[in-house]
Amino acid sequence: MASSSAAAAACSSSSSLSEEELTLTVKWSGKEYTVRVCGDDSVGELKRRICEVTNVLPKRQKLLYPKLGPKLADDSILLYQLPLKSSLKMTMIGTVEDDIIVDQVDAPEIVDDFELGQDEVVDIKDKEVNKQKLRRRINQFKIELLNPCREGKKLLVLDIDYTLFDHRSTAENPLQLMRPYLHEFLSAVYAEYDIMIWSATSMKWVELKMGQLGVLSNPNYKITALLDHIAMITVQSDSRGIFDCKPLGLIWAQFPEFYNSRNTIMFDDLRRNFVMNPQNGLTIRPFRKAHTNRDSDQELVNLTQYLLAIAELSDLSLLNHKNWESYTEDTAKRRRHN
Ligand SMILES: [Mg+2]
Repeated sequence: MASSSAAAAACSSSSSLSEEELTLTVKWSGKEYTVRVCGDDSVGELKRRICEVTNVLPKRQKLLYPKLGPKLADDSILLYQLPLKSSLKMTMIGTVEDDIIVDQVDAPEIVDDFELGQDEVVDIKDKEVNKQKLRRRINQFKIELLNPCREGKKLLVLDIDYTLFDHRSTAENPLQLMRPYLHEFLSAVYAEYDIMIWSATSMKWVELKMGQLGVLSNPNYKITALLDHIAMITVQSDSRGIFDCKPLGLIWAQFPEFYNSRNTIMFDDLRRNFVMNPQNGLTIRPFRKAHTNRDSDQELVNLTQYLLAIAELSDLSLLNHKNWESYTEDTAKRRRHN
């Protein structure tokens, strides 16, 4: 993951350049595409916007621009730091990924879930530049519903890699890499929660994986929507530079009559994905080494109990999800004593 604290520091003094909207023309494969970005977007975000219109995954893109040299290869550079002009055209070289299995295996593994201090988390979500990025994403991105939102249900948002599936191990059948009790978990919590799946990979991968695991065709529950990397935003922090996260505000803005900060919970093995909504995130233990851990992993069984126990509360954001294990124990104790 790229990071550049220098870039973040430079941007914290809000310059008008950084807020300026840029309309860029990208030439690819004999056609021209228009992408709208902003000065405080990073090169990484520009690549996601290009992916949105071309389907070439960001890591497969090579961007060429007159006189810029290798700067466009650094995903963490912010666009206002580059001399981009709307009148000049950018060229993208890259191929649409067909073999997405290969794609996953050669992707670098992100192991460090860096801990951001509490003050910094507050700072990141309240930073005007980050709030603005979220607003822009809300205006530009539309969530496609697979199934209608249900009145009176809470919302559960789930990551895939290491949360529902061990994507680094190999197996003849992907079902061997599925986190144990996945279907039982989804069936049980569906009674109280609408379910969305949000992965930092591409939609092709999300659909393929969820299809292979039978999550999109199980008769006992329905998935409300799938989201991918295109829905993510890059935020700026002082100590960690820039990084990507999954802002729930994007969902809340599109379905305000159903979902909000009080009735939404999100599971992810990477805490930084919650940074724009820290009160709604639960850091799940990563499911790795499926062949070794398949018989012992109980995380989804225990989390089923937690989700059902808290489903009756009117405001989930008042909970500290870090303590989810003791919450279920306490509830069980109270029930025994009653
Ligand atoms: Mg993950």
